[in-house]
Amino acid sequence: MTQPIFLQPIFQERIWGGTALKDQFGYPIPSNHTGECWAISAHPNGPSIVKNGPFKGKTLIQLWGEHPELFGNPKDKVFPLLTKILDANTDLSVQVHPNDQYAAKYENGELGKTECWYIIDCKEGAELIYGHHSSSKEELVSMIENGEWNEFLRRVPVKPGDFFYVPSGTIHALCEGTLVLETQQSSDTTYRVYDYDRVDQQGKKRELHLQKAIDVSTVPHRDAELHILTEKRPGVVVNSFVKEQYFSVYKWDVNGTAEFVQEQPFLLVSIIDGNGEINVDGETNPLNKGDHFILPTDTGSFTMEGKFTAIVSHI
Ligand code: ZN
Repeated sequence: MTQPIFLQPIFQERIWGGTALKDQFGYPIPSNHTGECWAISAHPNGPSIVKNGPFKGKTLIQLWGEHPELFGNPKDKVFPLLTKILDANTDLSVQVHPNDQYAAKYENGELGKTECWYIIDCKEGAELIYGHHSSSKEELVSMIENGEWNEFLRRVPVKPGDFFYVPSGTIHALCEGTLVLETQQSSDTTYRVYDYDRVDQQGKKRELHLQKAIDVSTVPHRDAELHILTEKRPGVVVNSFVKEQYFSVYKWDVNGTAEFVQEQPFLLVSIIDGNGEINVDGETNPLNKGDHFILPTDTGSFTMEGKFTAIVSHI
């Protein structure tokens, strides 16, 4: 049986980033404007590297290509998911992502981007932008062109532990003071709608992509309906947040000893709080806050022990 495959995160500096990835996770971030930890990634803009075992040193792109048996012999050409932790120290630009068909046609075969967020932490009174208030495409175009942002953008309050499903076509933005674990399709295509008229140190604004954003935005906005299920088993509480076309996402709160069976092609696991260990086939690996790993197809039954919270996903 293959042991869990631990991955080395990649850090991305962003104008909106801060130091929370160091302060809260102890990561060696490159600067005080670090916005993204690409935790489980096989995207060419920042692929993860295996930290342990027989595949140590390989990128997740290589592993996917050379060892399909670890992932249930998938049909997908590229590793389909991307797990990130985002430190929104200031507001992110208001944006929207295309679906698979639009991205394939206009973005050199990139995947579309449906994503979801688990709010790890946020400041008191934090919000995010989720959807808009226009009722027709014409109204959406006129509100964007006239810069009626207060009327156009739909703001929702957030608190730690909240979960949001963000299908492609949803206008959205993380706002100041939120720390988020994002599970998404493996895509880096963003159409920026509004950037608060911010300028960089050279006095330049970041590029907007209004026509593409208008093309792909869903009108009117539809709130994704979530049916969060909670299941209590010995040693663990499992919350199922979403089971959708591109991914299923869960939170596991382990407290004590819990038994699991890995029945998916592969599982992505991120420890976002606490510590403990995982035992697969008689071998034990420690688990600490900030660890990210993959449980391959042949993991079979395994045990987790300790007191920790994990966000878990599969295709
Ligand atoms: Zn996004």
